[in-house]
Amino acid sequence: MTPTFDLIIAGAGPAGLLLAAAAARRGLEVAVVAPHPEAPWTPRYAAWTEEVRAARLDDAIAHAWPRVGVRLDDARSHVLRWGYATLDNLRLQRLLLQPLRPDAIFDDRALEVQHERDGATLRLASGRALRARAVVDASGALRALLQGPAPRATAWQTAWGAVVRAQGSGLPTPEQATLMDFSGPDPQPAFLYAMHLGDDRYFLEETVLIQSPAVPHATLRDRLHARLRRTGVTLLGEPEAVERCTIPMNLPLPDTTQRTLAFGAAASMIHPATGYQLGYLAAHAAPRVADALAAALRPERPDPDEVAHLAWDAIWPAHARRTHALHLLGARAATRFDAAQTRTFFDAFFQLPQDAWSGYLARTLSPAQLIPVLWKIYRRCPDDLRAALRGEFIQHPDLSARALLGVGTPDLSSTPA
Ligand SMILES: Cc1cc2nc3c(=O)[nH]c(=O)nc-3n(C[C@H](O)[C@H](O)[C@H](O)COP(=O)(O)OP(=O)(O)OC[C@H]3O[C@@H](n4cnc5c(N)ncnc54)[C@H](O)[C@@H]3O)c2cc1C
Repeated sequence: MTPTFDLIIAGAGPAGLLLAAAAARRGLEVAVVAPHPEAPWTPRYAAWTEEVRAARLDDAIAHAWPRVGVRLDDARSHVLRWGYATLDNLRLQRLLLQPLRPDAIFDDRALEVQHERDGATLRLASGRALRARAVVDASGALRALLQGPAPRATAWQTAWGAVVRAQGSGLPTPEQATLMDFSGPDPQPAFLYAMHLGDDRYFLEETVLIQSPAVPHATLRDRLHARLRRTGVTLLGEPEAVERCTIPMNLPLPDTTQRTLAFGAAASMIHPATGYQLGYLAAHAAPRVADALAAALRPERPDPDEVAHLAWDAIWPAHARRTHALHLLGARAATRFDAAQTRTFFDAFFQLPQDAWSGYLARTLSPAQLIPVLWKIYRRCPDDLRAALRGEFIQHPDLSARALLGVGTPDLSSTPA
């Protein structure tokens, strides 16, 4: 007999497991399918401490800093008094797997969903099949199950980093992580992301926030080493671990009229301007979508189209589509900034009141709150940046209409940046 569940989630990355745990805690029978679903994740995930605590994932915090620093050049810097945390992947995975039934975690690959009158059948690479009333694609940017063309990234965040033992005056202190240090002569806007891990251990990473084409990892590695030499940092021995990060940015929103659902990177939920999603998913999106699924999957609601409609409305509510469009317009302009312009932009951004910049980063501002924030940034920018920001609104009237008025075509973000 085909095993049957309320909900199947294809993917056991952060998005898949956050949603699976939230749905299971609401009493849904949840299955998770992924190749090696319990294998440890490798990226060094971080989030704002407030988000981690809101999601009650405090036990998964590996390191926390009460504040982070943003350095633009020798003359301009900002101290952000907003806690930041890196996560212990093993502890986080254990916490998220806990509410799931061990026999509902399948080490397999999802191939195809077949939608039927009263639910869906998911075919797996092993030849098995599973049935559920709703299926969520949480397979990351690949979107293994969603209908529609495979999304094409138009910009990338890339980073090269390492856990090292080091000494020198240019290193972060135990109390303050370095969110961005743009100082240096590079014409391209790259920054150091750095944190103290105890004793003489540090995580040091050279990052390009958003660029098209993607900046190669080798270039970032060489830049990091040049930066460390310039700032008098000496590495003590070989790196303990290396991270090569590539995040496809600004993928088009999925077609939300289909019955197959999506969550996380598969649903383009990565913040268009920062590349982050984990904190937002944990604190806001996973509880919201799990609530909607728990309500939609009640036995008296047999219509799968209605279930899908209610779930998509929670994955991409109208207000989130509008803020996403506003973030996208800003992110697109940022891909055109050189290093000097990027520094000036972030200087204007972090001069905003804390609730404005933190709300922008954490996606807690409504469109009505976000528009005046963007206007304030615009007014603080010099003419060349204002022209670039205006240019995005003029070049993408549909995106602007969606951002400002909440109307327009569902998505234009796949047009080249
Ligand atoms: C190096 C790196 C560092 C990052 N750091 C941060 C950070 O600090 N903070 C932050 O918020 N974001 C960060 N991100 C961005 C983003 O949050 C991550 O990319 C995150 O992993 C995306 O989560 P996801 O679950 O949506 O997708 P993924 O992590 O890509 O997970 C996809 C899952 O789907 C599975 N899968 C794939 N195909 C199938 C299939 N056919 N059937 C079933 N399962 C399938 C995979 O095995 C995997 O389990 C980082 C990204 C990278 C690459």
